[in-house]
Amino acid sequence: MEKKVFIKTFGCQMNEYDSNRIYDSVKKIGFKKTEKHDDASCYILNTCHIRDKAKEKVYHEVGRVKKLYNNKNKPIMIIAGCVAQAENEEMLKREPYIDIVIGPQSYHKINKVLKNFTKKEKKEETDFDTIKKFEYFDKIKNTNNKISSFLTIQEGCDKFCHFCVVPFTRGPEYSRPFNKIMNEAEELIKNGVKEITLIGQNVNAYSYEKNQKIYRISNLINELEKFSELERIRYTTSHPRDMTDDLIDCYSTSKKLAPFLHLPIQSGSNKILKLMNRKHTVEDYINIYEKLKKINPLIEFSSDFIISYPGETEQDFHETIELIKKVKFINSYSFIFSSRPGTKAAKLELIDDEISKDRLIKTQNILFSNQIKMNKSFENKSIDVLVENKIDGQNKLFGRNKYLNSVIFQGDKKNIGKIIKVKIESCNKNSLFGKIEDNKMRAA
Ligand code: SAM
Ligand code: SF4
Repeated sequence: MEKKVFIKTFGCQMNEYDSNRIYDSVKKIGFKKTEKHDDASCYILNTCHIRDKAKEKVYHEVGRVKKLYNNKNKPIMIIAGCVAQAENEEMLKREPYIDIVIGPQSYHKINKVLKNFTKKEKKEETDFDTIKKFEYFDKIKNTNNKISSFLTIQEGCDKFCHFCVVPFTRGPEYSRPFNKIMNEAEELIKNGVKEITLIGQNVNAYSYEKNQKIYRISNLINELEKFSELERIRYTTSHPRDMTDDLIDCYSTSKKLAPFLHLPIQSGSNKILKLMNRKHTVEDYINIYEKLKKINPLIEFSSDFIISYPGETEQDFHETIELIKKVKFINSYSFIFSSRPGTKAAKLELIDDEISKDRLIKTQNILFSNQIKMNKSFENKSIDVLVENKIDGQNKLFGRNKYLNSVIFQGDKKNIGKIIKVKIESCNKNSLFGKIEDNKMRAA
């Protein structure tokens, strides 16, 4: 029987990158990637543990796969990602349909585990072997050829914000060797990638030492800049404490670094930031904002907000709203605090549900109104769009501007991979709509 693998990916960009690398790995032992949910011989759920009922969602998904394969051969069922790490062998005990549980720092073992798999023997791999994992993947070509691709430079976190599971599921901070990252970037660019987003849970904490020289994310950006075929550089997710001056300087020296920074702050109240163990203040954040705006007033910000963190008063919430009004984030993520097992905040008393929902709605109303205002400001203007793909079943193209807005327009697929001018005619909260600017008209 032909060996086919399907991966369903949840959560952050790190998981998306990992899923692609898992495909690259299992290809070596004969597995072909399938886009269909229902004809795989190996079905992988790459899971996320960051919020709410993550574990229950995974069991629910497994139930769905079970039904899907009811009249077919059962696929080898693998749970990967952060829920796998957090729950480990518990999952094998609770759900017999699951065959293999593998954590994010053990993916280098996936081929071995699959080759040795027998139906009678379930397997759990959840060690933190980050160095070995990257050494293994450094030897496997990255075949990703999406116009805009992620490249992991750093993993894990040593900051231990009191609400967050990442330090427990991804392990301690680790920065990949500078030359290995550049080799992989070169592979991606040869594959046709035009935009690289450097990723890590604390991407700007990247720090790699060789021959007494310390390489930071600024060095990576400067080196990437030299690839003439590469059009744009981004990075995510960064922490305010690691926004050092060398990185801030890149916004004046780099021509390819997008003028858009996703920099989570979580709350506009210093009291709450302290309770969260964030290790930065609102003033630190505003200082970064002002430095960047001074370099280039067109730089825009987005952020993450946790609403109703235990202890948040009306006054603390008001300070968050005031911050949003000041910084005018152009797009952001906001969620009610979700108690995560094993974290310091897990035992704290939750804020009333109705109050939390009300605060979330108020937050999102103002975030969305900023977003709409920004999108409207593009109407009747011609903007640069990096064309990423054709939209399935439609004669339309999809691309993004510098600020990561989705742009949808009619056009020929010969434009894919190019930066072209699109005249924006209308917008909604999430997307801009327009048409390719007519060169002849522009000249006239
Ligand atoms: N490392 C980044 C930072 O420190 O800003 C964030 C990475 S975290 C994986 C992504 C986002 O998930 C956080 O910025 C936070 O807003 C959100 N998050 C994490 N734990 C959460 C929790 N327990 N409840 C609600 N949101 C949470
Ligand atoms: Fe989680 Fe980010 Fe805090 Fe690390 S710095 S614990 S990844 S929120």
